[in-house]
Amino acid sequence: MSETSIRAAVYLRISLDRNMDGLAIDRQREDCLRIAQDRGWQVVEEYADQSKSATDKSKVRPAYNKMVADYDAGRFAAIICWDLDRLTRQPRQLEDWIDVAQENGLLLVTANGEADLTTDSGRLFARVKAAVARSEVERKSARQSRSQVQRAEQGRAPKGVRPLGYATSGDVVEHEAVAVHEIFRLFAIGDGPSIASIARGLSGQEGQDVPSSLPHLPKHSRTLVIERNARREAEGLEPRPVPNDGPWVSSTLLGILRNPRYAGYSVYTDRLDRKENKRRTWHAQILRDGDGEPVGGQWTPIVTEDMWWRVQERLNAPERITNKTGSTARKHLGAGLYLCGVCEKPVRTHGQRYRCEGHVMRSRKQVDDWVLSIIRARLGRPDLRDVISAVDEPRVQAITAQIDTHRAKIKRAQHDYDAEIIEGRDLKRVRDQANPAIDALEAERRSLTASADLGGVLDMPDPVAAFDGAPLMIQRRVIDFLATVHLYSHPRGKKTFDPHTVSVVPKHS
Ligand SMILES: [Zn+2]
Repeated sequence: MSETSIRAAVYLRISLDRNMDGLAIDRQREDCLRIAQDRGWQVVEEYADQSKSATDKSKVRPAYNKMVADYDAGRFAAIICWDLDRLTRQPRQLEDWIDVAQENGLLLVTANGEADLTTDSGRLFARVKAAVARSEVERKSARQSRSQVQRAEQGRAPKGVRPLGYATSGDVVEHEAVAVHEIFRLFAIGDGPSIASIARGLSGQEGQDVPSSLPHLPKHSRTLVIERNARREAEGLEPRPVPNDGPWVSSTLLGILRNPRYAGYSVYTDRLDRKENKRRTWHAQILRDGDGEPVGGQWTPIVTEDMWWRVQERLNAPERITNKTGSTARKHLGAGLYLCGVCEKPVRTHGQRYRCEGHVMRSRKQVDDWVLSIIRARLGRPDLRDVISAVDEPRVQAITAQIDTHRAKIKRAQHDYDAEIIEGRDLKRVRDQANPAIDALEAERRSLTASADLGGVLDMPDPVAAFDGAPLMIQRRVIDFLATVHLYSHPRGKKTFDPHTVSVVPKHS
């Protein structure tokens, strides 16, 4: 072999995750060396990685990395690999190779065709190959959640943490099921109590808007730890600390109301969902058969399908209002919003006054002026943005991540359609799947982020002016979001307003 012959590297990779063409490494090597021989190239180095996926850049491919370094050092000018798939399935890495090929003239040859990255057609070929490989990767990840889906197809109870109302076996836990049914029944009423009110009822609280028909239950997370401890004890293990009981929160109830299992639908949670929200699988989806019909689970439903769907409708309604500030059309700023300083019940309007019978009777105008002055001062503070980010709970972030995933899927499909990799009907199918999911997720996010319910007041350049110009309903929500207002009785005979008799405590300091 002459000194002037092109120096080439051979890259071999066996990936055990591909059983369809798990080609022996010897066969790859044989093919690659034959290519070198045919072209009169001099193979200066051989790189081989085993059992490493080309798709996951977090997985280490030591030989691949060494090859990149050696190429940068000018040790060879050509790479021979059995298939482009063997080199990389990451579009980003491929673009890197294309860049260096254009700069330095890298020759890249594969056993099933030449991918000359220095020419337009070669680059197009490489990109199409990479796109095809990527869709294959997506099919593979679908295969991996196959066993989970198989379980669901057989209508068996999903593995994992038991939901309120069902034992791990799928059997009904009677006293919890009673609560679940009541939660659904109350929320299915079109003009019924809000999720927050139902949460208060479940926590054993009382109040004007709080339904009294709910049993008082300890928080489910606490029950689960106690049960787990019983199992640990049976195994001779130390018990884990049991969290204190506390009030139920709206997000837990939302998870219950969204769970199709209660209507007897078999469910699955896809892999992406689990990855993005490691703490819990909350977004279970109804499993459907080939005709699009829901697959039934083998467990006893706690609510009827009709009730479950009525609840979803109310949850999805864009005008859904979860807090007390909008539950009925109020005419006055503080009615049902300000609380009586004696009994904690919301005050009602009584003529020109706010009243809690037998406890408090206050001039509406005096109280409202004072409350508004404090709210305006709060809205004018430069740290208002901190208040908004303070409500960004991890759950909201998880929802946002899911929305991003769906959007990225659509974008990718559009890109693949433009590149003529997929057909119009494929693009439509992707859109038809993703868009309703995005709508539902956005509705959930709206319900969780108060600031979105505040008519954008907090996001305006001048929040004070935006607040002053906002309709009464929005003003009430802003007040409710920022502060708790208590009214105390005014000392008799005192003419001037005493600010100490109206307490405005910020909810976020
Ligand atoms: Zn009272």
